[in-house]
Amino acid sequence: MSELPPGPRELELSAPEMRRLVMLALERLVAHVESLPRQPSADVAGGAELARSLRESLPEEGAPYEDLLALLFERAVPKSFNTAGPGYLAYIPGGGLFHAGVADLIADVTNRFVGVWMAAPGLVQIEANVGRWLCEMAGYPSSALGLLTTGGSMANLIALVTARRERLPEDFLSGVLYTSDQAHHSVQKAALLAGFPPARVRSVPSDGEFRIRLDALAEAVATDRAAGLRPFFLVVSAGTTNTGAVDDLGAAADAARAHGLWLHVDAAYGGFFVLTERGRRVLHGLERADSITLDPHKGLFLPYGTGSLLVRDGGALRRAHSVHAEYLPPVPEDPDFVDYSTVSPELSRDFRGLRVWLPIKMHGIAAFRRALDEKLDLAAWAAAELRKVVGVEIVAEPQLSLLAFRVTKPGLDDAATDDLNRRVMEAVNARGRVYITSTIARGRFLIRICVLSFRTHLDRMHMAIEDIRGAIEEQR
Ligand SMILES: *Cc1c(COP(=O)(O)O)cnc(C)c1O
Repeated sequence: MSELPPGPRELELSAPEMRRLVMLALERLVAHVESLPRQPSADVAGGAELARSLRESLPEEGAPYEDLLALLFERAVPKSFNTAGPGYLAYIPGGGLFHAGVADLIADVTNRFVGVWMAAPGLVQIEANVGRWLCEMAGYPSSALGLLTTGGSMANLIALVTARRERLPEDFLSGVLYTSDQAHHSVQKAALLAGFPPARVRSVPSDGEFRIRLDALAEAVATDRAAGLRPFFLVVSAGTTNTGAVDDLGAAADAARAHGLWLHVDAAYGGFFVLTERGRRVLHGLERADSITLDPHKGLFLPYGTGSLLVRDGGALRRAHSVHAEYLPPVPEDPDFVDYSTVSPELSRDFRGLRVWLPIKMHGIAAFRRALDEKLDLAAWAAAELRKVVGVEIVAEPQLSLLAFRVTKPGLDDAATDDLNRRVMEAVNARGRVYITSTIARGRFLIRICVLSFRTHLDRMHMAIEDIRGAIEEQR
C-alpha cells in the first residue's frame, strides 16, 4: 500500500502569519475609524465605473495581502455612503461599534457551532442571554423568546410565518393581514414570501401624524369578516422609516384583542428608545404585543446584519419551526436551554450573539441609554433650530429621533415646491458634511433627518443646520 503525500498546508497560517494578517488589517481599520469625521458624508460618484473595474474572474493563484487591503481601503470602501460616520443622518443610520468587529473575529476564528445547543452550550447560553436581555428591555415575561436575525426584514417575515402557524389553518389563503400605509416595505415583502397574495394585505390609512387609524382598521376587519375572510395579523410601527411616527401601541393592543388579531410591533428603528425614560413613554404598550422586531444594528449601534425578533409566547416559535432530523444531536430537555435550530429558520449561521454581548458587557446598558438619550436631544434640538428658519415647515415633529420637514416659498405650486426641496437636499449633501435623504408622504416630497449614530453629536448637528440654512439661502 503506497502512502499518500503529507498534503497541502498552505491554508493553515502560522502564528506569525496570523499576527501579520490581523495587525495590518488593524492598522488600516484604526486609521479608517479615526478619519471617519473627515471623510465626505457620501461619495458614490463614478461608482458604476469602479464596480465595472472590479469585475474579475476566479483567480487560480494568490495575490499579495497588502495589495488586497489597498484595494479595499483605498478604492472600494471610500466610494460609498459614509454610513459609520457622524454625518450620516440618512434613512435609518447604522452604527458599527468597534467591539462588535472584535467579537466577530473571535466568533469566526473559533468557529463554534451555535445552531444546535449541544455543539456549544456555553456560547449558545451567551446568545440566549442576549435574547433574554432584549425581552427584558421590551418588558416581556420570562415565557418570551428572543432570536437574533440578520435584520428587521427577516424578523418581520419570521413573525408573520409564526402568527400564520398559530392563527390560521394549513390552508391559510383566507387569512388577511393589516398594516398602515406608513409601514416598512418589508411587511409587504414578508406577506409575499409567506404566501399571501397582495389582495390579502390591507393598507390601513394613517392620521395627520402618520399613525395608523384604528377606526379604519375596525371597518376593514368588519368588511373582511363579513366577506368570509379570516383577519389574523396586525402590524403597527414603533418608529416608521418615513417620518418616525410611533403608532399608539396601547390602543393597537386593545384593538388587536378586540378583533382577535396577532399584534406585531415593527420597532426595528425605534424600539431601543424604550431604554430611555422619554422613549418608554412614547412606546407605552410595547410589552402587550405578541411579537416585536428590534434592530440592534440600528438602535444598539451594531454592524449591519444584527436584527432581532422577540415573541411573547416563545412556544409559538417552537411550534412554527420544529422539524425532526435523525442526524442532529438531541435537543436539551431543560426548557431553560435554547436550541436555535428548533425555534428559527436557520441551522448553520454565524455566532451573532457575541457581537451584541461583548459591547453590552463591557460598557453596561447604561452607556447605550445615555447615547440614545443624546439622540433624542439632538433631534429635538434640530427641530427647534429648523423652526427658526423662514420658510421651513416641520411636517413630522420628532416623536423619537427622526423628523421630516419641507421648505416652502410663496407663489410656488406643489410640483415646484417638491423640486425646490429636492434641490435643497442635494445642495446639503453636496457640501459633504452630512448626508440626508427624502421620502414622499401624502404625495409631498419631504426631507428627513434621522439621528441614530453613536458618533453623531451636537457639533455635527450644528453643521447640519448650517448647511440646510445655507442651501435654502442658495435656492432663494
Ligand atoms: C430598517 C427597518 C426595517 C427593515 O430592517 P432591515 O434590518 O433593514 O432588514 C423594517 N422596519 C422598519 C421600521 C425599519 O426601520
